[in-house]
Formats: sequence, structure tokens, C-alpha cells
Amino acid sequence: MTEDEARRKLEKRLQDIDDLSGINTDAGSIVELDQGKVGRLSRMDAIQAQALAQETARRRKVEHAAIRAALARLDEGEWGYCQKCGEKIEAGRMAINLTAAVCAVCAGR
Ligand SMILES: [Zn+2]
Repeated sequence: MTEDEARRKLEKRLQDIDDLSGINTDAGSIVELDQGKVGRLSRMDAIQAQALAQETARRRKVEHAAIRAALARLDEGEWGYCQKCGEKIEAGRMAINLTAAVCAVCAGR
């Protein structure tokens, strides 16, 4: 994987997250429904749906930050190098996770 390929994929994923976050904001507002009109069960469904939406939003936020950090490392020529020991991160590891910031050895410690 070249740095250009990685950058394209990361920027695409960042855009996807932004697009999905817009949809997610709507899902989070289900509980705002007039409680007089929804029964106990559907209200519980709505609360569960909101909890799920919040968890999804939280994960997206974490991934968003990881991608931005990876793009910053690309800018600085640091991408693909371990932020702890400075060694090149295994190609297989980078292929699985373009936002990997540490090598397998450091991650295992
Ligand atoms: Zn390392």
C-alpha cells in the first residue's frame, strides 16, 4: 500500500463517517417523541435505539480522531512508522488498519 493509496482510503472513510453521522443524528432524536403517544414498550425500544445510536456515534468519533491522526502522520512522513519505537510497522498490520500508530511488538506490551 502506497502512501497515496492510504491517504485516499482514509479521506474516503472520513467522508463516509461524516455522511453517516448526519443520519445518526436523526436516529438519536427518536426518544424526543411525545411520550404520551408512544407506549411503554415502544418507548423502551426508542431508548435502546438511542443507546445504540450513542454508542455508534462514540465509536465513529474515536475512528474519526484516529483517521485524522493518521492523515497528520502522512503529512509529516511519519505514517507507517511506530510512534513508540520508531521502527517501520509491519505491512500486514498497516493493511488491516491504516490508522495503526504502533508496531505489533509495542502494541503487545
Ligand atoms: Zn514499536
